[in-house]
Amino acid sequence: MKELRRNPITGEWVIVSSARSARPVLPENACPLCPGVFELEEDYDLAVFDNRFPALSFDAPEITEEDSIVEKARAFGKCEVIMYTSEHELAVPDMPVKQLAKLIEVWCDRYRDLSRNKDLKYIYIFENRGREVGATLDHAHGQLYAFPYLPPRVERKVNYTREQYFLNGNCTLCDMLKNIPEKNIVKKGHYFVSLVPPYARFPYECHIYPLRHVSYLTDLTGEEKWELAEFIRDVAKRYDWLFEEKFPYMMMLFSAPYNTDELYDEFFHFHIEFNPPKRSKDKMKWMASVETGSWNFINPASPEEVARELREALD
Ligand SMILES: [Zn+2]
Ligand SMILES: [Zn+2]
Repeated sequence: MKELRRNPITGEWVIVSSARSARPVLPENACPLCPGVFELEEDYDLAVFDNRFPALSFDAPEITEEDSIVEKARAFGKCEVIMYTSEHELAVPDMPVKQLAKLIEVWCDRYRDLSRNKDLKYIYIFENRGREVGATLDHAHGQLYAFPYLPPRVERKVNYTREQYFLNGNCTLCDMLKNIPEKNIVKKGHYFVSLVPPYARFPYECHIYPLRHVSYLTDLTGEEKWELAEFIRDVAKRYDWLFEEKFPYMMMLFSAPYNTDELYDEFFHFHIEFNPPKRSKDKMKWMASVETGSWNFINPASPEEVARELREALD
């Protein structure tokens, strides 16, 4: 069973996706993402394929039940898996910049391709690294969810930045980047800056922002994409060096929405967020009652202190 159900109190959609086919039996220690093992038959460089257990899909069943007590909708959309490399041991911190630059081109291709479907409103690209954030396979890969609506946090970002734009005539992030204090900056380049924002929700949260105002990843020039590849690797590497382990993280890309009859170019600023789930090498930052129930985060670390730690990790 797979469908969208709307919470009558918050208005948010919940994806209920209970169908789980049995995973195929693989030889012990075989990685299904390595070339020729299971998902991908031949050797590959980068690859994209449909998630075998998609929460959202183009062929999601129609809603037939008419007497439901809550609003329901088809779980229409797309879930894809994006392989970064065929090399099993090669993760983002050690990947050649060229490989990550190619990955950015693959992301752009997926944005362009899926945004042609007028029923898809938000294309969300992310990576879960490590068991702590639910990655069941070590082989470096990311994912993509294409939603038929704006997910709640995206909608909130859009609404707030639009409201501020109408009040002040500026993009809130452009305004912030003009005045960002050195103490929050991890690394500054020609086109990008990585920083621990003063409003970080997670202790080791780190964001990457283009210094130029662009709303979509696909708006970046080739030279900018190359530097973005360097910045993505740099942030991941700093975590590993700081903690001397393969530090788990969630990496999330935020481009503007598509196909909503609204233009986002003036006020939505493309960005990438890294949210590691840990507060130290051996302590998790749990989503407990305050975070889960009130959607209000309490950050137990000083963002400025963390920015210093990350700055010094590679110096
Ligand atoms: Zn593998
Ligand atoms: Zn901006």
